[in-house]
Amino acid sequence: MTQTVPPRRAQCPDPPTVAENITHLTPYRPGKPIEEVERELGLTDIVKLASNENNLGPSPKAIEAMQRAAAQMHLYPEATAPRLREALARHLGVDEKMLVFGNGSDDIIHLLGVTFLEPGDEVIQAEPSFVRYKAAAILNNAPCHSLPLDSGWTHDLEAMAERINAHTRLIFLCNPNNPTGTIVSRAALERFLDRVPERAIVVLDEAYFEYAQGPDFPDGSRYVQEGRNVVVLRTFSKIYGLAGLRIGYGIMRPEIAAWLERTREPFNVSGMAQAAALAALADTEHVERTLAMNAAGKQAFYAGFEALGLPYTPTHANFVWVDVRRDCKAVFEALLRQGVITRTGDIFGAPTHLRVTIGRPEENARFLTALRAALD
Ligand SMILES: *Cc1c(COP(=O)(O)O)cnc(C)c1O
Repeated sequence: MTQTVPPRRAQCPDPPTVAENITHLTPYRPGKPIEEVERELGLTDIVKLASNENNLGPSPKAIEAMQRAAAQMHLYPEATAPRLREALARHLGVDEKMLVFGNGSDDIIHLLGVTFLEPGDEVIQAEPSFVRYKAAAILNNAPCHSLPLDSGWTHDLEAMAERINAHTRLIFLCNPNNPTGTIVSRAALERFLDRVPERAIVVLDEAYFEYAQGPDFPDGSRYVQEGRNVVVLRTFSKIYGLAGLRIGYGIMRPEIAAWLERTREPFNVSGMAQAAALAALADTEHVERTLAMNAAGKQAFYAGFEALGLPYTPTHANFVWVDVRRDCKAVFEALLRQGVITRTGDIFGAPTHLRVTIGRPEENARFLTALRAALD
C-alpha cells in the first residue's frame, strides 16, 4: 500500500526549528520529589502527599515478583504482556483484545491523541482536570475546549454536551476528577453518552476507579462492552502502588485497540512492570488494606479541616481538595518547611486550594499539625 504524504515546505529550515504547536507545550510539573526537598531544605523524614501515590508502598508480592524479574532484565519483555493480559481480562470480565497496555496511562492518553487527532479535530475537557489531555490536543494541532467545572467542582456535562460539534473527536472525562475528587454519577454519564455522536470517542479516565466504588459510580468498562466509543483508562500507579514502574492500560473496543497497537512503541511496558502488575493484581489483601487506610484517613482529614474552618470537597479518591482561604502557595511553602509536600491549586486555576493525598495515619496527623501551624 502506498502512503500519501501531505504537501511539504521547500526545505527544512536551518537551524532546526519546531512546528508552532510544539512551542505551546509546557513541560509537566510533577509533585515535588522527596529527595529534592531533602536536598533543598536539609530536612529528613519528609511526608509526601503530593502525587496521590499509595503510601503503604507496593504490595509485598509485587516486590517479590520484581526481585525475581530482576535477573531476566537482559531480555526484551514480551511485547503483548500475555500473562498480565489474560489475568487482567479475567479480573475485569472483558475480552483480551479490549486491552492496551501503556508506560503509565499517560502513555495511552498520548497514543489516543497521536492515533485519532488530525489537525483541526477538536478535544473537549473540563477545567480543572488532569493536565495531560490538553497536551495531547496541542501536540496534534487539535483545538482544546475546556469547560469549567460547576459550583460543586463536578463536570458540567450539560455544557460539555453542548460544546460537541462536527469536529469533536476526543472528549476527556476524569472520573473521579483529579484534582477535585468529585464523580459524575451513572445516570448523568449515561444521559451524556446518549448525546455523543458516533464519530467522537469518550475517554473515561478512571485512574482512581478502585477508590470510587459505590452505587452511584459508573464502571466505564460496561459502556465498552455495550460497543460504545468509550475508552476507559486505568492504572497500576495509584491504589496498586506502582507509580515508579510506569504501567497503565486502556479498555476499549477491539477495533480501537488495534489502531493503538500500531502506534505504540513495541516495548512500552517493561518486563519488570508486567511481573509486578500481575502480582499486585492478585494481592487483594493489599488493596483492601489500602482502602481501609484511605477511608480512615479521609475522616481524619474532614475532621481536621472542619476544626480549622476550611471548606473541602468530599472525595471519591485518595486525595482531598481543600480551600485554605488564603494564598495556597504561601501555605504550601509553610508546609514544605515542616517537611510536608502537598500540591497547590494555582496550577489548576484555584489560587486558594490545596490538593492533599491521603497517606498513612501518622503522615495525615503530621500534615494536619503542620497545616494548623501554617495557618497561624
Ligand atoms: C495519576 C493519573 C494518571 C496517570 O497515571 P499513570 O498511569 O501513572 O501514567 C492519569 N490520570 C489521572 C487522572 C491521574 O490522576
